[in-house]
Amino acid sequence: MLDASPISISQLRSRLNGRVIAPDDPGYDDARKVFSGAIDRRPAVIVRVADASDVAHVVSLARESGLELAVRGGGHSGAGHGVSQGGIVLDLAELRALEIDAADRTAWAETGLTAGEYTTAAAAHGLATGFGDTGSVGIGGITLSGGIGYLVRKHGLTIDDLLAAEVVTADGRLLRVDAETHPDLFWAIRGGGGNFGVATRLKFRLHELGTFVGGMLLLPATPEVIVRFVAAAEDAPDELSTIASVMLAPPLPFVPAQHHGRLVVMATLAHAGAHDAGERAVAPFRALAEPILDMVRQMPYPDIYPPEPEDYHPLPAVRTTFVDRVDRRMAETILEHLGAATARMAATQLRVLGGAVARVPADATAFAHRSSRIMVNVAAMYEQPDEAALHEGWVAELAGALQQPDAGAYVGFLGDEGEERVRAAYPGATWDRLAQVKARYDPTNLFRLNQNIPPAE
Ligand SMILES: Cc1cc2nc3c(=O)[nH]c(=O)nc-3n(C[C@H](O)[C@H](O)[C@H](O)COP(=O)(O)OP(=O)(O)OC[C@H]3O[C@@H](n4cnc5c(N)ncnc54)[C@H](O)[C@@H]3O)c2cc1C
Repeated sequence: MLDASPISISQLRSRLNGRVIAPDDPGYDDARKVFSGAIDRRPAVIVRVADASDVAHVVSLARESGLELAVRGGGHSGAGHGVSQGGIVLDLAELRALEIDAADRTAWAETGLTAGEYTTAAAAHGLATGFGDTGSVGIGGITLSGGIGYLVRKHGLTIDDLLAAEVVTADGRLLRVDAETHPDLFWAIRGGGGNFGVATRLKFRLHELGTFVGGMLLLPATPEVIVRFVAAAEDAPDELSTIASVMLAPPLPFVPAQHHGRLVVMATLAHAGAHDAGERAVAPFRALAEPILDMVRQMPYPDIYPPEPEDYHPLPAVRTTFVDRVDRRMAETILEHLGAATARMAATQLRVLGGAVARVPADATAFAHRSSRIMVNVAAMYEQPDEAALHEGWVAELAGALQQPDAGAYVGFLGDEGEERVRAAYPGATWDRLAQVKARYDPTNLFRLNQNIPPAE
């Protein structure tokens, strides 16, 4: 049985190739931090695994000791699933190998890499795989969630480019999974999160992405602009994916001072295609209103991930849902609530889906929301921990007011919201099928610090 005693830790050190970080070690406090500043947990030990055999060893140790196991990739889970209170953290950060086969247009990537690191390396070959909107997110966590980002309408979700994976399952075995080998597990990891094992390597399809037009467009937020923005995004060619945040303009140096604190649509447009076609696709958005700021231009694709502040750990409250349409009433509701928000940063993010996402059958992967038209994320970032209930209440109320018949949820943006919301991420037959696969590969629910799918009876 592992405890935090020096003997157990030194035994662990002698058996593993990677770094073992105990509570008394320098660096422990940094190593236990995750992206969300609301999470402050003290694991018994953090293991920075060096290879798949370390992963198997740590998984077996968790199984035999009964200690809670946290699997940490990029650390961006809103619920803080990358760190355990009193348990073992299996930290993938040192698994950083990336083998790009430019001729074959595929890449094998270890799961300690971030989306930004992978994207920069692939762009050196004029190639890309789509991840999300933030470079520091881990490729493991986002891929296992589904992956909704700037190439989503052109190339689909990240999982639509996942060709194979290597996964250490609860019994400590390293399995190679793809459409032919362990197809049930391959189906489940494409959207089912970290429930089924530790993905050590992922094989992705790469797409040619020579020319890219993208960047930020800042528009004044009125109900008309919001409604017409969404309509334009739905009408746009699949090459164009958009993420539009309705929010109070932050006092950033590049935002003209007279707009600070005013309601704006801060949109990122992303056109994966030729320059002229990109300019044509972006034109309807530029015409919605006189832009406050127009930074849309031809640029290297990795520049879509701007540098992020060091050691940035916001206190976030987030609710995610899908809607079928954004009408004037909904736009007014968004603006009214944002106008009354008291958080340092409050936003409603609208992501029009469709395109390649919707061309994959709903039961082809564990991400079942193929026909959902628009993802809506309501978020508040606040500064005082004792204000959590206030801001959680605000996001819940606005998300509730925006609710439409599509009551689904994207697992990647779920916080610690309870079983009903996890079920919303896996509607109908998807849940039952996932529970069956879970029973086969993790019958004791060793991998439970996640958006959990308990094994079927
Ligand atoms: C600022 C921000 C922006 C985001 N933007 C987007 C976006 O645009 N699109 C999108 O789709 N999502 C987005 N997300 C959601 C993000 O994809 C998920 O939170 C994802 O799970 C984070 O992965 P991670 O590895 O960084 O986090 P972690 O906290 O390390 O892991 C998250 C979960 O995945 C599990 N996990 C991670 N890696 C592995 C692995 N290799 N094997 C097994 N289990 C693993 C963990 O156990 C945990 O349960 C965003 C999140 C944040 C905080």
